[in-house]
Amino acid sequence: MRLLGILGGMSWTSTAEYYRVLNEEVARERGGLHSARVLLHSVDFAEVAALQRSGEWDAAGALLADAARGLEASGAGALLLATNTMHNVADAVQDAVSIPLLHIADATGERLRAAGLTRVGLLATAFTMEQDFYTGRLAGKYGLDVIVPEADERAEVHRIIFDELCRNVIRPESREVYRRVMTGLVARGAQGLILGCTEITLLVGAPDTTVPVFDTTRIHVEDAVRWMLDDATTPQR
Ligand code: GLU
Repeated sequence: MRLLGILGGMSWTSTAEYYRVLNEEVARERGGLHSARVLLHSVDFAEVAALQRSGEWDAAGALLADAARGLEASGAGALLLATNTMHNVADAVQDAVSIPLLHIADATGERLRAAGLTRVGLLATAFTMEQDFYTGRLAGKYGLDVIVPEADERAEVHRIIFDELCRNVIRPESREVYRRVMTGLVARGAQGLILGCTEITLLVGAPDTTVPVFDTTRIHVEDAVRWMLDDATTPQR
């Protein structure tokens, strides 16, 4: 099994989910006591979130690039950046290392294409919903028409992520808010919904809507597990 490097802690609540699902998937594939071979560099999310708020994406990219170099030097054969939002600096991370970064938007885009969907709704942080790095990639590489909630709904979706989900607070009232926003996106023609923030799966899932749900945490993990177990031709690192 190949050794995976994870850039995590953004936030720790979603990284805990990554770790759990990675191990469940490896155990399901390999059976017995098999578990995931991973190195985790978990950051202090307050530092990263402050850089996001002040728009210092270059500094955030440098911080993550440094951590990525450490994971490569410690033997990781590929990297997982366990957040959608910080894929805003995916190029800086990828440029810092010679091992591949398994991009969360590509894993998601491929899944959507395989499902044959063309118009999808996106729930994510305001950064991911409003900047181009994520929706632009889904549109440009995968031909997807990505729609986002209205401005006031985006603000509330974002607030719940940072004030609650990243702090391990799960509130039924917030689940209702998300359900309403999801219903709105479906009414506007979304054929599927991307849970495009790795904490959202802690709050809502398939039972909360009528269309297929694309949970980026799980999709990213499944992509990583395929890479980890595809070691027939590659020497183990
Ligand atoms: N984990 C979240 C995401 O997938 C948000 C936290 C962050 O800003 O990195 O976008």
